[in-house]
This record gives sequence, structure tokens and C-alpha cells, in this order.
Amino acid sequence: MKTISLIVPCYNEEPTINIFYDTTEKVFEKLNNQSTETYVPEYLFVNDGSSDKTLDVMRNLHNQHPDTVHYLSFSRNFGKESALSAGLKNAQGDYVAVMDVDLQDPPELLLQMVPILESKEYECVGCVQTTRDEKSFKSFLSSTFYKMINKMAEVKMKQNVRDYRLMTRKYVDAVLSLPEYNRFSKGIFAWVGFETKYIEFEGVARSAGETSWSFYKLFQYSLEAVVDFSDVPLKMATFSGVIVCLISLIALIFVVIRALIYGNAVSGWASIVSILLFMSGVQLLFLGILGNYIGKIYLETKHRPEYIIEEKK
Ligand code: UDP
Ligand code: MG
Repeated sequence: MKTISLIVPCYNEEPTINIFYDTTEKVFEKLNNQSTETYVPEYLFVNDGSSDKTLDVMRNLHNQHPDTVHYLSFSRNFGKESALSAGLKNAQGDYVAVMDVDLQDPPELLLQMVPILESKEYECVGCVQTTRDEKSFKSFLSSTFYKMINKMAEVKMKQNVRDYRLMTRKYVDAVLSLPEYNRFSKGIFAWVGFETKYIEFEGVARSAGETSWSFYKLFQYSLEAVVDFSDVPLKMATFSGVIVCLISLIALIFVVIRALIYGNAVSGWASIVSILLFMSGVQLLFLGILGNYIGKIYLETKHRPEYIIEEKK
């Protein structure tokens, strides 16, 4: 008998949790019919500070199935990354899956994923979504982002890979061994290495409820990725600094020579002002970049917990 932990972060997911549970139960029936091994699910719902009745739904489900359904409830909204990490820390299973509750990470895929890990060739199975049910501008931005981050970061991240993955104990322990406070899980999964198999599936719409990712949140998320996994922006700042110094040195020599030959002419007020403005802009931009990294260091050195658990069953 093997236990498969299912870590399911939930933020205002009152309508979806029960649908998720019923669907996944059916998948486990099928899984056990198709294999010689018996698999038992360990549901681990993480309530990420929802403001609706999500926690009540979890409590009810736990009361109905006290052996297989467990939950953690945060004292406020800490974000999906923190929910995932709390789940990973508390999961007991031989295999551990992380998946969304809205069925956009179809539980049916477990039927393919579990045999892949059983073959012992891989430590992790990830899922790549082939079509995204999103407007094309968003997917254009997304592919630009992945091209950029893959140039900048030491680890390679695949586009359209969902957070949905099934991992062995060994893999989970490796992920947990990274002590950082700022957790960008896509990067962390790529960073730990091991053989990972990717399976493809066609994207589906949410089972119910609404997405909680606004455009601004996605933008923030991309910035996190860059700052957490790359120091290229800092190097870019240094590089541009050197180039600008060189250019101004050449300009200075030019101006001095011109003054010596033609005498002093006070002209070019407009060009001086534009150069000044441009340079102040560049300086502010790089100060901002530096600030981002310093902010991260600040948060890391505080050693604050990633989340606070208010209730655990
Ligand atoms: N989620 C979370 N905390 C948050 C935002 C989202 O735990 O602050 C969960 C959410 O309940 C869902 C998963 O993360 O299970 C993915 O969120 P969503 O479906 O809104 O994102 P999308 O699928 O649109 O990328
Ligand atoms: Mg979703």
C-alpha cells in the first residue's frame, strides 16, 4: 500500500472543493483498478486565508472522512507559494502531488503520472498545458517572460508547465531542503534537478468560482522570478554604468578640445538638460533594481516564518 498526498491550496474556493474531492475519489478507484499496488489518497487542503466559507467546507469534508482528508488553515492570505510549502512540509505520503482545486490540473492525469514514477526512472512528473484558455496578448507576454528568464537564470524553466506535479519522497525532501523565505516554486523545482518527465494535456476552464490572479499579481510574480533566480539585472546595471562612463569620457575630451580650438561657446542648453534627465532616469531605474534585491535580503534576514497556521486537522 502506498499513500499519495495531494496538496491543494485553496483561496476562496467554497464552490470547488467538493467537486474536486468527488472527482479525485473516482480517479483513485480507477487507479487502483488499473494497478497491482493499492494507492490511498491523503488530501491536504490548505486554506490560504479565504474570506468565504472555504474553511467550513474543509471541516465538513474532514468530519466525513477523518482518515483521508486533512487541512491546514492559515491565519491570513499568505499566497499560493506559502500554501504549497506548508503542504509539502506536512505531507506524509510516499508520493506527493501539488494541484489546484479548480480541476484545471485534471486529477485524471494521475492515472498516467503514478505509473511513470513506479517505473523508478523519474523522481518527478510535471504537466505541460498545450493550449491556454487565455487571450493571446497574455500568452505572448508569458512566452516573452520565459524567453527572458531562461536567458537570465541559471536554471531553465519550461513555458506552460503548471505547478501540478507528482513527486517522490526523495524529490520532496530536496525541495524542502531549500531554506529560503522568498519561494518561487517553479524556479525551486527546476533548481533541485533530478529526472523529471513532462506529460502534455489540453488546458481546461475552471470547474467553478473565479481566478484570483489579476494582471498585476502576474506581473509581480514574474518580477519575483527574476529577482529570486537571477542577478543579471544587477550585472546589467554595472555594465550600463561602465558604458555611460566611457561615453561621457569621450564627450568630455571632445568638449575640452573643442573649447581649446574654438574658444568658449555657451550653447546646447537643451541637449544638456535632456542628457541630465536621461541619466537621472537611468540612475533611478538602477536604484530601483538594487532596492528590489535589498528588499529580498531584508526579508530573508528577518527569518520570519513563511506562514502562520491557525488550525490543523
Ligand atoms: N490560490 C491560493 N492563494 C492565493 C491565490 C490562489 O492558494 O492567494 C490557489 C487557488 O485556490 C487555486 C490555485 O491557487 O487552487 C490556483 O489559483 P487560480 O485558479 O485562481 O489561478 P489560475 O488557475 O487562474 O492561474
Ligand atoms: Mg485555476
